[in-house]
Amino acid sequence: MGLQEYRAKRDFDRTAEPRGADRVTTQWPPRFVVQKHQASRLHYDVRLEIGGVLVSWAVPLGPSTRPADKRFAARTEDHPLEYRDFEGVIPEGEYGAGRMIVWDQGIFVPVPDRKGAQPEIDPQAGPEMLRRQLEAGAVKVEMLGEKLQGRWALVRMAPREGEQGGWLMIKDRDAHSTEEGGLPGDDTSVLTGRTVDEVAYPGAIHAPAADCRAALDGILGAGRDVTLALSGGTVRLTNLDKVYWPATADRPALTKRDFLAYYARMARPVLRHLHGRPLALTRYPDGIHGGSFYQKDSKPGTPDFVETVAIWSDHRAQRADGDIDFVLCHNLPTLLWLAQLGTIEIHPWISRIAPAGPGEAPFGTTFSGSREDLERSALNYPDFLLFDIDPYVYSGQEAPGTEPELHREGYERGKEGAFKVKEQLDALGLPSFVKTSGKTGLHIHAPVLRQYTFTECRAIVGTLVDQMAREQPDRFTVEWAVEKRRGRIFMDKNQNVRGKNMAGAYCTRPSAEATVSMPLTWEALATAYPTDFTILTVPEIVAAQGDAWLEILAKPTDLQAILGG
Ligand code: MN
Repeated sequence: MGLQEYRAKRDFDRTAEPRGADRVTTQWPPRFVVQKHQASRLHYDVRLEIGGVLVSWAVPLGPSTRPADKRFAARTEDHPLEYRDFEGVIPEGEYGAGRMIVWDQGIFVPVPDRKGAQPEIDPQAGPEMLRRQLEAGAVKVEMLGEKLQGRWALVRMAPREGEQGGWLMIKDRDAHSTEEGGLPGDDTSVLTGRTVDEVAYPGAIHAPAADCRAALDGILGAGRDVTLALSGGTVRLTNLDKVYWPATADRPALTKRDFLAYYARMARPVLRHLHGRPLALTRYPDGIHGGSFYQKDSKPGTPDFVETVAIWSDHRAQRADGDIDFVLCHNLPTLLWLAQLGTIEIHPWISRIAPAGPGEAPFGTTFSGSREDLERSALNYPDFLLFDIDPYVYSGQEAPGTEPELHREGYERGKEGAFKVKEQLDALGLPSFVKTSGKTGLHIHAPVLRQYTFTECRAIVGTLVDQMAREQPDRFTVEWAVEKRRGRIFMDKNQNVRGKNMAGAYCTRPSAEATVSMPLTWEALATAYPTDFTILTVPEIVAAQGDAWLEILAKPTDLQAILGG
């Protein structure tokens, strides 16, 4: 017993797991946690608070609610009580490297091992009974968690003193046992709503599947208006039959109902990529051909479920308190509220408010008050190097003075530029992710640890694109004057600026085809065309193929290591 083995296995300079305090306060009834742990092999870590530590078992298949399923459980080293709240990424090379979420949490009490026995709830007798049960290799408990409930047993198979491993976890027959068996509840964290694949994402994802389904049912119902009471808040949606995208040769008109249904279906991946990022909004309350306006500041009357962040603005400083309250989109009600306002364009920053992690610059999280504070803050340190690729290859059909429209030749040339950028980034050891803009362009994001400011990141991107323009001046340009870009691919480094923003991943665009900005694998980019990805097609594509950008925040590159070496 004790934490020596736990501590000896870990390097607390490298892993964010808790070292554990030496003096602990225990609680009665004691607490349990079940962590879903995607290590070299997926398993569930069942941990019970006994004797001031979390006594732990690794259950490869996880607990099953069917009494006939005897799940193998390997006893592992005791963990500190603080481990109860740990979820995140355990870095490669560390013990238990992989991803972990708090799949369930709750309290439990021991149950004497005889028929009809009542749980021992006495704070004196209970702890002693648990210690005896553990020693005897037959732990019987009544659990009150969000997922695990009722009576469970952990039984040692061949009791041998001092040896670990070889236990079974078994559900007792009671009101909570089932005949189908399997894991109760869903596969998300009870703390943050994230799945084990999403845990690299900072912050919680508040879009429970049940809420998304309820929202979609409400939106697709017959009503012209509908009020959705969701776990995160109540949203009123109105004028659902208003046409947002007029009919085209290929399909009938799309309404605000279709638009809202898209975001209800896509809430999880959209929220994943917007989390922690201040948003600039372009609202089209009467659809793509109605008037539109740009909005940064949240207005009076913003619902309580909408989180905002006050950010210093030089522009604003001349008038009032110098701050703008930017909207953050952290939950399903906020996303639906934005859609209700006709926000066809959601533009997230490429920096986010999350505090510094290991290996990142010592920036702060004060964003308001003065320009200096903002410059010393997380929001001045982007987490992507951004390459904005814009073909200036005209189809010839454009009205004078307008941007090139989407057409095959221009798009193919842009794609060529994108693969060229990837080649350069690969050579530097920088993984990169690509998405369509939803129009004619492509956006490449190379995720980096937040070590460099926007100015420095822009210089790095500038070096790479300048070189492309020098080597192939007939194909690529970095010219600022639009007329000098004609016939070539504009490689824009100037999106690497604080407060600049581009269409978010999976966010809608005000194009005639109702396209979205679609994350793609590099393999898929080879054959993809922007109009393949619309509010009608994307939910099914993502349901079938998953989020091509799921890994984008999982392994940011340590640029310092590359540039310093
Ligand atoms: Mn584990």
